[in-house]
Amino acid sequence: MKQTIALAGNPNAGKTSLFNILTGTRQYVGNWPGVTVEKKAGVIKGLAGSMLVDLPGVYSLSAQSIEEKLAISYLLQEFPDTILNIVDASNLERNLYFSVQLLEMGLPCIVALNMIDVASSRGISIDEQLLAKRLSVPVVPMVARKGTGQEHLLTQLQKDGAVVSSLVISYPEQIEAAIAEIATALADEKLNLAPSVRWIATMWLERNATVEQLVRAQAASGVLNQLEHIRESLGEMADQEIRNARYTWIENLLHEVTAQKKVVNQTWSDRIDSLILHRILGIPIFLAFMFLVFQITFSWVGTALSDVLDEFFSGPVAEGLASALASLDSPEWFSKLMTDGILAGVGSVLVFLPQIGILFFCLSILEDSGYMARAAIVMDRFMRAIGLNGKAFIPLILGFGCNVPAIMATRTLDDHKGRLVTSLISPFMSCSARLSVYSLFVSAFFVKWQAEIVFLLYVTGIAMAIVTALILKKFVKAEDGLFLMELPPYRAPMLKSLLLNTWDKAKGFVRKAGTIIFGMSVLLWFLGNFSWNGMAEMDDSFLAAIGGVIAPVFAPLGYATWQAGVALITGFLAKEVVVTTMGIVYGAGDAAGSLTTILQGTFTPAAALSFLFFILLYTPCISTVVVMKRETGSWNWTLLSIVYSFVIAWVVSWLVYQVAQFIL
Ligand code: GDP
Ligand code: MG
Repeated sequence: MKQTIALAGNPNAGKTSLFNILTGTRQYVGNWPGVTVEKKAGVIKGLAGSMLVDLPGVYSLSAQSIEEKLAISYLLQEFPDTILNIVDASNLERNLYFSVQLLEMGLPCIVALNMIDVASSRGISIDEQLLAKRLSVPVVPMVARKGTGQEHLLTQLQKDGAVVSSLVISYPEQIEAAIAEIATALADEKLNLAPSVRWIATMWLERNATVEQLVRAQAASGVLNQLEHIRESLGEMADQEIRNARYTWIENLLHEVTAQKKVVNQTWSDRIDSLILHRILGIPIFLAFMFLVFQITFSWVGTALSDVLDEFFSGPVAEGLASALASLDSPEWFSKLMTDGILAGVGSVLVFLPQIGILFFCLSILEDSGYMARAAIVMDRFMRAIGLNGKAFIPLILGFGCNVPAIMATRTLDDHKGRLVTSLISPFMSCSARLSVYSLFVSAFFVKWQAEIVFLLYVTGIAMAIVTALILKKFVKAEDGLFLMELPPYRAPMLKSLLLNTWDKAKGFVRKAGTIIFGMSVLLWFLGNFSWNGMAEMDDSFLAAIGGVIAPVFAPLGYATWQAGVALITGFLAKEVVVTTMGIVYGAGDAAGSLTTILQGTFTPAAALSFLFFILLYTPCISTVVVMKRETGSWNWTLLSIVYSFVIAWVVSWLVYQVAQFIL
């Protein structure tokens, strides 16, 4: 008998291992039509005429990643004879969610209960017979990696074959009523879809996009209107209620069929996880790690290195450049452009390279050791509270490096609304460019509290992101698909990969110094040394005129100087340019070290603090705005973000200034 068997299961449940032991060398590898996801098929050894198809690993049939779409369309349209559902016994609750969705389809199924070795090493024992009875399909315990259970599975496939489960989850009354109505409405429609009408009805109520698309393509429009109407009358919460009913059913099942022995020899990695992933302690532990990173960056290592580099620029480099220019007999304006423009502008930014490098080095350690993936899990609960899920935490963390890749990384999120919200809040994650401004100011004004103030700025950025997400939640509700992430094993980070990673991030910073910052230095120098009447004192220059126009806007925040105004305008091109601008407008030929002294003369500490908060929150740089437009596909949202962040920055800085005046 010729039969097609579809192998389906969660990622990492052991599909590839099972596929390999069942098919051996008889495999064909191709692609799913239209996408680059690999499609494997093969003939099962000892089961002539069978074709085993490896479906993409998915956690459910609900969310809408490419893999999920492929898996669900295959099951709906290809009429496989058997679904071989592989389940990771050590993660039963999560794996069974997918199983329940499969069994509800009403297609013949067999469950391969894999990784029973892992489960028993964790002290989980499973009553397989009872599980089979409750699921009402055959359950074959296996260790796919070793091939244990293979014979049993083969016999099952050959002799008894798969069974259509009689499993029925009972949903709340109105939902059952709606399902029944839909079934009646669809009774005369000859849908060419594999699953039961009940399943189609449930998925319709859950607003599953793939099912919806197929039903729309096949059903008459009168019927579709009816279906639409039934769904609308149920309200927004139907999909959640359906999900909850499945989870409740699974929870009860697990109580019945599993027993957890106390494990005596817990692995050390489990022990660390029970602390790091702790419901309550998890978040303070995360914050403590972040604080430690800032201590290293500012108090212990980074600042000292930056000081060394600073002395190098203001000493040997400045002197070398001056004597070279003198020996070349260069015209005075050119010498000034080189020293007061380019060296002051580019050098003032480059001195922060060590701090940025150290920050990324530390973040790479957290990443490579396996901690960041755990932080995302700790944050999941929290992210749900603001209408997102743990997956969105990763783009946000990337935002600490640069907001541009952060917004691009929102593509990994499954739903459009989640992507939109995450893109809009990403700019509040304080990027490394802003760090150069913080470094300059904290070393000038808050020598004793450098790490604390910078930490406070980062936390404020996160807090604003949260507030914004909460506001957006009122207008765009993200789908809270289930967030499941594999925990990578803990590993000692490799120095080489840490250095590569750090360089990868620092490279962008250096490249910017050589391009946009270099260009801006030249432009700013000219604007700062010329007026309509030719060469001029800086206070009479174009630059002073431009800055003077917007300076009054910032008077209530404590800094009404044209220099601050210009710095904030040019910061829109790239936030580092704020430092460049300060270097040029205040540096004026002196060694870079005295920039600090001049700043101390023009800002009060309270104004400096308020300036820092403004830098943190105000309109993101132009590159960020451009990708935001591209990724959200909407000028309205992008413009809203520009205006919103400016207003928020102004208000917060004003508050900070009012309070700081009393304290500082
Ligand atoms: P897939 O993502 O579903 O294709 O899963 P893989 O077949 O790639 O398996 C994921 C990991 O689990 C691999 O490292 C396998 O060697 C391992 N693995 C698979 N089956 C078992 C099993 O029954 N027991 C144990 N201990 N490990 C397994
Ligand atoms: Mg695989």
